[in-house]
Amino acid sequence: MGLLYEGKAKKLFTTDDSDVLRMEFKDEATAFNAQKKSEFEDKGKLNKAITLLIYKMLESKGVGTHLVADVDDINLLVKKVDILLVEVIVRNVAAGSFSKRVGVKEGTPFKQPIVEFSYKSDEHGDPLINDDYAREMGLATYEECEELRQKARVINDVMIDFFKECGLKLVDFKIEFGRTTDGSDIIVLADEISPDTCRLWDIETGEKMDKDRFREDLGGVMEGYASVLKRLQDQA
Ligand code: ADP
Ligand code: UDP
Repeated sequence: MGLLYEGKAKKLFTTDDSDVLRMEFKDEATAFNAQKKSEFEDKGKLNKAITLLIYKMLESKGVGTHLVADVDDINLLVKKVDILLVEVIVRNVAAGSFSKRVGVKEGTPFKQPIVEFSYKSDEHGDPLINDDYAREMGLATYEECEELRQKARVINDVMIDFFKECGLKLVDFKIEFGRTTDGSDIIVLADEISPDTCRLWDIETGEKMDKDRFREDLGGVMEGYASVLKRLQDQA
């Protein structure tokens, strides 16, 4: 079936069901708004398997997602949704752009999770926005912003516990949501959840197991991802 969209990490294909897309996970990796690029053998496989495991776990806890079915090593079937151009970032520990922006040292734990929004626009570098921006830009209503925040907090609570059982600390992550297009018109979790989109540190050693290995040239990028998958599989 036809290629609908090719992004930095995935491709979307139409299927013979107009409400369903095939999502292919690629081996390419990008960071810093695609200024840094590379390719890692098996990244697509690892991220597909990790996303599937996490989505199934979230579904089992009552979180509505776009997941339809597993296909093969690198493909999932997902409900076609209209992606909200609001990326939701949840932080439990200071890192990345938070530390850079406000000068709080990486690794500082938060008393309560921080939920923030950014405008999903590569052209503008995914800038930080708030509910007023989202409303004025027609990205989401106030009520929808609140819904995204609530859903993100639930997903965070569930994932913190799940990763903890695997010996991993969930530092922060980015998620996307979409409106279903099959007439049900609900907001579901979409896109992926993987070491590309989460920061995960080994609880014992503090070792980074996620895309920061690529961003910071720490080496062993796929070894980190493979270790995350193995831990999740052992736990599931
Ligand atoms: P990017 O677009 O940032 O380069 P990807 O390479 O991951 O990112 O591309 C996947 C694209 O598919 C993203 O833009 C994402 O918002 C979109 N997407 C994810 N899930 C769905 C879905 N269920 N329906 C439609 N689009 C989706
Ligand atoms: N993130 C992501 N895609 C983005 C921006 C961020 O998946 O376009 C993830 C990132 O991997 C991290 C979290 O969201 O787990 C918070 O990222 P941050 O804002 O600190 O930005 P970064 O350090 O990636 O610049």
